[in-house]
Amino acid sequence: MGKIILTGDRPTGKLHVGHYVGSLRRRVELQNSGEYDRIFIMIADAQALTDNADNPEKIRQNVIEVALDYLSVGLDPAKSNLFVQSYVSELTEMTFYYMNLVTVARLQRNPTVKNEILMRGFQNTLPVGFFTYPVSQTADITAFKATTVPVGEDQLPMIEQAREIVRKFNQIYGDVLVEPDAMLSDNKACLRLPGIDGKAKMSKSLGNCIYLSDPADEVQKKIMSMFTDPNHLKVSDPGQVEGNPVFTYLDAFCKDEHFERYFPDYANLDEMKAHYTRGGLGDVKIKRFLNSVMQEELEPIRKRRKEYEKDIPEVYNILKKGSDIAREAAAETLAEMKAAMKINYFDDAELIAEQARKFREE
Ligand code: ATP
Ligand code: MG
Repeated sequence: MGKIILTGDRPTGKLHVGHYVGSLRRRVELQNSGEYDRIFIMIADAQALTDNADNPEKIRQNVIEVALDYLSVGLDPAKSNLFVQSYVSELTEMTFYYMNLVTVARLQRNPTVKNEILMRGFQNTLPVGFFTYPVSQTADITAFKATTVPVGEDQLPMIEQAREIVRKFNQIYGDVLVEPDAMLSDNKACLRLPGIDGKAKMSKSLGNCIYLSDPADEVQKKIMSMFTDPNHLKVSDPGQVEGNPVFTYLDAFCKDEHFERYFPDYANLDEMKAHYTRGGLGDVKIKRFLNSVMQEELEPIRKRRKEYEKDIPEVYNILKKGSDIAREAAAETLAEMKAAMKINYFDDAELIAEQARKFREE
């Protein structure tokens, strides 16, 4: 069995640096490692509609934004199939069958969905589609027989749900589906990058993001306005590193070599953290350093984006080609599933002959 990746993002906004360190950067490394037989990267427009049904234009506008973000970070359509979820209608069909294999009580226990329902104020207005999106996500993963799903920490309950559905399906109908594994970043800071306001998660829905496509001066402005340690008032005061988003971002982005280039007072981040903790290192200095580090990583991304922006029809073309390939792969799995579920009546000559015999004998 080959190694296959499926992962994706909701086109509810442009992608931000949380997506980058949590998932995108890793995807590009995996893509270029040559270790994977197939890679599917999905723009989850159908899933985005589950909590944006009344705002289709928002999703429509953001499909191309996410595609541009993908290409600009270095996802290469020659190696990774970039596709649009709604185009692969087989996924919806699979979702319908998987719904029978999961209980309402089980879905209600999903901590990420629980939290998202609260955040969206969906207590009495929860769309059934949103409530069941972990089931549709199982279809996304299993349609491609994905072995590996590189995601941020908030997605772990979805992968667990997918594994349960796969086990149940295989147990009832026979071995068709593959149990996926989540792949998380081994850098703790990348699992859930906080917002520039210090909130636990940088999120499109919370408006606390640095976007991959933000111009350099905008990135700088956002970094200089970042939340730090509220008790670090004077430069000489001892500062708190733990829970200070500037240091979390440095954990996520900074390498020793950056100190040589931008802040030779220190050899590495540990030395800088020690000084901040002791007192005597001001917030403006650490933010300026973070700005240099992040601009170095973001500049080539912005440049590549500008190139792709010049030929938008070609970007749609890339998505269409990827979607055709994804559809073919999903259709293959769906046919296997339907045969296993005994709902393949017309392509089973044996069934037809057997029934004919039975009725002749009666
Ligand atoms: P929405 O608010 O619409 O849900 P989002 O910002 O949470 O948007 P998603 O499209 O839901 O983004 O998530 C895409 C992927 O990025 C997932 O794998 C998710 O775990 C990861 N991710 C999102 N935000 C962060 C973050 N702040 N840090 C690390 N990973 C993240
Ligand atoms: Mg999300």
